[in-house]
Amino acid sequence: KASKMLVVVAVSGGGYVAYAEANSEPKLISSAPGIDQGENKKKKIVVLGTGWAGTSFLRNLKNPNYEVQVISPRNYFAFTPLLPSVTCGTVEARSIVEPIRNIVRKKNVDVQFSEAACLKIDAQNKKIYCRSNLENNLSGQEEFVVDYDYLIIAVGANVNTFNTPGVMENCHFLKEVEDAQKIRKTVIDCFERASLPTVSDEEKKRILHFAVVGGGPTGVEFAAELHDYVNEDLVKLYPGVKELVKITLLEAGDHILNMFDKRITAFAEEKFQRDGIDLKTGSMVVKVTDKEIFTKELKNGGEVSAMPYGMALWSTGIGTRPFIKDFMAQVGQANRRALATDEWLRVEGCDKVYAIGDCATINQRKVMEDIAAIFRKADKDNSGTLTIKEYQEVIKDICERYPQVELYLKSKQMKNMVDLLKETADVSKGNAELNIEHFKTALSKVDSQMKNLPATGQVAAQQGVYLAKCFNRMEQCEKSPEGPLRFRGEGRHRFHPFRYKHLGQFAPLGGEQTAAQLPGDWVSIGHSSQWLWYSVYASKQVSWRNRALVVSDWGRRFIFGRDSSHLN
Ligand code: FAD
Repeated sequence: KASKMLVVVAVSGGGYVAYAEANSEPKLISSAPGIDQGENKKKKIVVLGTGWAGTSFLRNLKNPNYEVQVISPRNYFAFTPLLPSVTCGTVEARSIVEPIRNIVRKKNVDVQFSEAACLKIDAQNKKIYCRSNLENNLSGQEEFVVDYDYLIIAVGANVNTFNTPGVMENCHFLKEVEDAQKIRKTVIDCFERASLPTVSDEEKKRILHFAVVGGGPTGVEFAAELHDYVNEDLVKLYPGVKELVKITLLEAGDHILNMFDKRITAFAEEKFQRDGIDLKTGSMVVKVTDKEIFTKELKNGGEVSAMPYGMALWSTGIGTRPFIKDFMAQVGQANRRALATDEWLRVEGCDKVYAIGDCATINQRKVMEDIAAIFRKADKDNSGTLTIKEYQEVIKDICERYPQVELYLKSKQMKNMVDLLKETADVSKGNAELNIEHFKTALSKVDSQMKNLPATGQVAAQQGVYLAKCFNRMEQCEKSPEGPLRFRGEGRHRFHPFRYKHLGQFAPLGGEQTAAQLPGDWVSIGHSSQWLWYSVYASKQVSWRNRALVVSDWGRRFIFGRDSSHLN
């Protein structure tokens, strides 16, 4: 058996190292594309991922004092909110993607891209290990090591099957453009197979049963989109099987769209019922085989039943990528769900590493500990009480340090935490002193109710912009820091902490109707919101090319309907 050999090629300056395992002969190893390390004193930022977070960082980085190395298995950005539209051909796959090289081309910052996946992060030695992603690379997959001064982890998340047996093997997912293309092909597959003369009626019914698991925005939007596709286009082309089509939406909770306002949930549930989409709430999927889905009825004493299906989409939330799990163990975060960062988006437990987007979460527990400590510090005479004025000062300070708290207070439409204290401890107006014990009760209430930022493109994009702006002003803010006073240590923080601004969310429900929930709990449902959805999503495209293609796809669909050819 040929022995394995490790070949190491070091580029002068130590910036890039390439290696590979070879069997008998050492294979040709190329160093990664050229960043001149010789005289170059620029600090190197490595960005992992070209999704919402990574791309928005790259688009907004303007500081020429950095060189940037982008590493992602995907050489494009994909506009994920339109993925459900790709599954049914309402929008074409290429219309919603933009090559990352186009996005970074016009910048005055030195940006290099490598199509590769990061396999391992070594934070101690500031190195990351990567493997090229080029399927057609005749010399095999290349592996290389990149070192960094700053690392930005923006690798998003995995699908989460909750280890349900058979899901990985039998279900579709909707995370990537390829997933949407596969779904589009499978839907047509089902209709063509059900139209074959040899197939029994019973089998046709099974093949044309589309099951959607998960009543979140993705599952709901896909069910709605599929319903429109079937009723507006496919029934005309496959009249023989029209009556046999069924769409079922399975949700383990009591309601669908539970992150939306109750009015939206109620409207969506009623609409689905009217449309004939079979909505099964309280129904938990426990196993999936190639032809059947097994569900446990949570309301019916846990009875398990089998449901034949033709195609299933699994969309029940997100999980952590394996190499991120390894990294979390390395930096002492083994038992967390996502990479914990502070309010400046720095990964806890390592230096100069940032994490943004779906792979990260701001460590709330630490925020709560800090807040309690701030209060203790303000209680100078150790009396256990602060005056209302002192409380207000402290709360102002907390809100400046921890915008999450401010966000929570705003979402509860409270002017400040004194209102919260009044609510919790029933402190009457005009009371001169508030007890720290009351505050602790209030704090635990905030802790339990203050949600992690949602895993959305909106959060990821804003984090990318925030971080780019920090890097753009790194030198300036080093000299004159503008953040709040350091709680531990001297002086001020260089930057203000990350502040999320919620701009609202949409839930397209099919039939040219969309539910919109905008800031201030303003809810609008119906055709007018659909037009708002069209304009917002057209304007949010990352390039004029995408905008033109998406708008023309919508126009084509209005005029000619969706295409049902068995192609990708
Ligand atoms: P992603 O956008 O997933 O990007 C991750 C990047 O990391 C990718 O480029 C990936 O190729 C790369 N990567 C993966 N593994 C590695 C590796 N090992 N090494 C290097 N790079 C790696 N959000 C909204 O705000 N509004 C919406 O309407 C909305 N609709 C959605 C609809 C669907 C169908 C889906 C799936 C999501 C939707 N979202 C929406 C959520 C949104 O897409 C995510 O929150 C967002 O993509 C997160 O951004 P990210 O940059 O963290 O991750």
